Amino acid sequence: MAKGNEFREGLEELAFHYEKILSLLGEDPSREGLEKTPMRVAKAMQVLTRGYTQDPHKVLTDALFEEKYNQMVIVKDIDFFSMCEHHMLPFYGKAHVAYIPNGKITGLSKVARVIDIFSHRLQVQERLTEQIKDCIQDTLCPLGVMVVLEAKHMCMQMRGVEKQNAITTTSSFSGAFNQAKTREEFMTLLHGKNI
Ligand SMILES: [Zn+2]
Repeated sequence: MAKGNEFREGLEELAFHYEKILSLLGEDPSREGLEKTPMRVAKAMQVLTRGYTQDPHKVLTDALFEEKYNQMVIVKDIDFFSMCEHHMLPFYGKAHVAYIPNGKITGLSKVARVIDIFSHRLQVQERLTEQIKDCIQDTLCPLGVMVVLEAKHMCMQMRGVEKQNAITTTSSFSGAFNQAKTREEFMTLLHGKNI
C-alpha cells in the first residue's frame, strides 16, 4: 500500500463518509474493530482508483524503441484487478495483448503498466479492453493490436446473479487483426482456442 504522503486530497472527507456508510449499513462505527476502518477504506479506495492520476500514454511514449522486428509480439497472462463502475465491486482476471510492430516497440513491462493504470479506475470490462487497445494503437502505431480480457466479476458471483465461476471474455482489435487469420494466430498462441 502507498505511503501516507502518496494519498490524494479528500482522504479525510472520504473517511468521514465511510463512517456514515457503516452506520447506514447497521454497524456501530465506534466499536473497537471498526474504529480505524473508515480511514483504511478511504486509503484502499484511493489506491484502487489511483489510475485517475496516472497517464498510460506517457508510460508508453517514454519507453519507445526503434526496431525492425515486425512479427507478432504477445504478452499474455497479465493479472489485473479492477472495480466495476456499477457496483464498485472487484472484477479481476487475465489480460492478453498482441501487437504487430511498425518500426516501434515498447518494454513488455510497460504493457502491464498500461493495464494496471486503466484497471485502477472504475470500469466496465468492455471499455477497459478498448482503452488498452486504443492506448497501444495511438502510441506505438503498430500494424495492429488485439487485447483479450478474461475476468470474474464479484458483483455477479457474490450476489448470485450468474453461475459461480462464470468467466466473461472481451476482445478488441485493430489493423491486421481485422483479418480472422491473424486473430486465429494470436488465439492459437494463447491457448489454442478460437474467438
Ligand atoms: Zn458490477
